[in-house]
Parts: sequence; C-alpha cells; structure tokens
Amino acid sequence: MKPPICAICNSRFFEGGGLIYFKEDLEDEKFNKRFEREGFVGHPSNAFWFCATHYAKAKEVSHLTKKEAFLSL
Ligand SMILES: [Zn+2]
Repeated sequence: MKPPICAICNSRFFEGGGLIYFKEDLEDEKFNKRFEREGFVGHPSNAFWFCATHYAKAKEVSHLTKKEAFLSL
C-alpha cells in the first residue's frame, strides 16, 4: 500500500480521511486481475487516499472510474 498522501492536495495525514476505491475501468481490471493472480503485494490502481477534507467529496464520486471522478473533484 502507498503511504496516506491525499490524491487532491498531496498532504500527508495520519488521522481522518481514508482509502477510496473507484469503479474499475478496463485498465484497472487488467491490472488488478494480474495483481490477484500473481499475488502481488501492492496498491490497486483504482484506490486512492484522501485526507479528511477531501474524503467525503471523493466518496460521493466513488461510483465513477478514477478518470471520471478526478474530473469532477
Ligand atoms: Zn486533501
């Protein structure tokens, strides 16, 4: 897993906030399948950290793919 650094404001945070999984697009699906199959320990390509300030907003658009979501954030 990546360290918790907000995907919007790049701030490191230790409390509040959290990891958001966006809807997988084709790229993510491929990546994450390979990931499972090969037993990689790492960070899913559709998962991003958000600080307490940005978490709620990101959660609202987590039904979108990351590309769509980041356009609306
Ligand atoms: Zn933030």
